[in-house]
Amino acid sequence: MSYYSPSIEKLIESFEKLPTIGHKTAQRLAFYMLDLPLEDVEEFTNSILSAKKNLHFCSKCFNISDTDPCNICSNPKRDQSIICVVEDVRDVIAMERTHEFNGVYHVLHGSISPMNGIGPDDIKIKELLSRIMDGQVKEIILATNPRVEGEATSMYISKIVKPLGVKTTRIARGIPVGGDLEYTDEITLTKALEGRSEI
Ligand SMILES: [Zn+2]
Repeated sequence: MSYYSPSIEKLIESFEKLPTIGHKTAQRLAFYMLDLPLEDVEEFTNSILSAKKNLHFCSKCFNISDTDPCNICSNPKRDQSIICVVEDVRDVIAMERTHEFNGVYHVLHGSISPMNGIGPDDIKIKELLSRIMDGQVKEIILATNPRVEGEATSMYISKIVKPLGVKTTRIARGIPVGGDLEYTDEITLTKALEGRSEI
C-alpha cells in the first residue's frame, strides 16, 4: 500500500529503474525534482530528450555522435590505418582521456558471450571486417575488457583478421582481470596501450 499519490509513485518508480538507484534514493530524487522550479525541470527533461533524439551512431566506427561520420573518423589528423577495437562507447572516452592514441576506433557494442546467447553476428564484427577489407588498415588493436567475454571476442577477431595480413595486437595486462576499461585510470591504460603485443 502506497502513501503517495499515483503521479509521485510513478515518478519514484521511474527513478528506481535507473542503475544503482535504490528505493530510498529514488524517493529523494523524486521529491528533489518536485521542489525545483518548473523551468529547471523542463531544462532537465529537454536535455535528456534532445540527447536521445540527436545522438546517432557513426556509420564507420559506431561511436555515439551528433554527426556522421563522427568527429574522430572525420579528423584528418587521426591515423585511419590503426583501429582500436573496444566493446563500448564509454571505452572510447576512456582511451581518449589518455591522449596517447591517434588512430581511430571501432565500437563492437558488446562482446561474444555464448552464456548470454550473444554470438559474433550480434556485435559489430562484420562491420569491422568490411573496414579491413577496404585495404587501408595496417593494425588492429584489440582493447576489449580483460574478462572471459572480452578475451573470447579478441581471440575470435584475431583469428579472422590475421589471415588477412593485418597486424593484430592486444593491449597489455595491467588492467585488472575482470575490470573495465571505463574505470581504468589513464596511466594504467596508457601503459596497456604502449605495452600491447602481437597475437
Ligand atoms: Zn566514427
